[in-house]
Amino acid sequence: MRHLKVDWINILFIGSVHLLAVFSVVYMAAIHFSWWTLGLSFLWFGLCGFAITGGYHRFFAHPSYKTNRILQAFHLFFGAASIQNSALKWSADHRRHHSRTDTDLDPYNIRRGFMWAHILWIFYKDTEGELEGVKDLQADPLVHFQHRYYLPLVAVSGFILPAALGMLWGDWIGALLVVGFLRLVVQWHATFAVNSVAHTIGNQPYSKKNSARDSFWTALVTLGEGYHNFHHKFQLDYRNGIRWYQFDPTKWAIWSLSCLGITGDLRRTPESKIRQARQSVLAVD
Ligand SMILES: [Zn+2]
Ligand SMILES: [Zn+2]
Repeated sequence: MRHLKVDWINILFIGSVHLLAVFSVVYMAAIHFSWWTLGLSFLWFGLCGFAITGGYHRFFAHPSYKTNRILQAFHLFFGAASIQNSALKWSADHRRHHSRTDTDLDPYNIRRGFMWAHILWIFYKDTEGELEGVKDLQADPLVHFQHRYYLPLVAVSGFILPAALGMLWGDWIGALLVVGFLRLVVQWHATFAVNSVAHTIGNQPYSKKNSARDSFWTALVTLGEGYHNFHHKFQLDYRNGIRWYQFDPTKWAIWSLSCLGITGDLRRTPESKIRQARQSVLAVD
């Protein structure tokens, strides 16, 4: 196993955000409660969540559909508010997770334990192949801009804009705390669950060659990313839950945007290939 250096900045930052999230609950319960602030935090959760699942994941890391510059800028802006690195770094890590799943070179290797895959990996510096495999994204000026100005974008999208909106109803402190910190913590753990829970709980209908699993429950908290066994087998499909009844709001959003002409060329795995994968798993069982 590779030896990695501890990343104290990440530990202090993530620890402080968690403490402030706890304080946000106290603030709402005992100091000042505003439905507007709570509503804004749900809105931000939805926008930032979609920027990660529909943007960072299904658009930048796996180009599973096409879209215009406006939606790309939306993904990069609200993706920054999710504080999970720039789209460039996120995609480099994620592509490595797919090409090296369950090995020492997988940044969130589940074989190092549930907590490692969930959050501990962020507490260490891993510079191995840092920006490998993302040449296509490096050539994109918009992605490059977000990577370069990542911290100012984080400040504006994650904290300054929510606080400014909170001023409209006289609760900028609440907006900063609840939308900024509490929303962020909930969103972090939802994303982290894809790397931990979706590699631990659920079934494996499409491949048993890696640890990825399909689970409705994981999908419920991750905006549809819980059908992770299918996703690892067919990573270029814009859907993770392929059946119409499977809970995948990210898929529904991308599809709805295609009806408006905002997204296009949605990639779907041919049904025959899906059936073939299913049958080869059944044959082994
Ligand atoms: Zn995975
Ligand atoms: Zn993926």
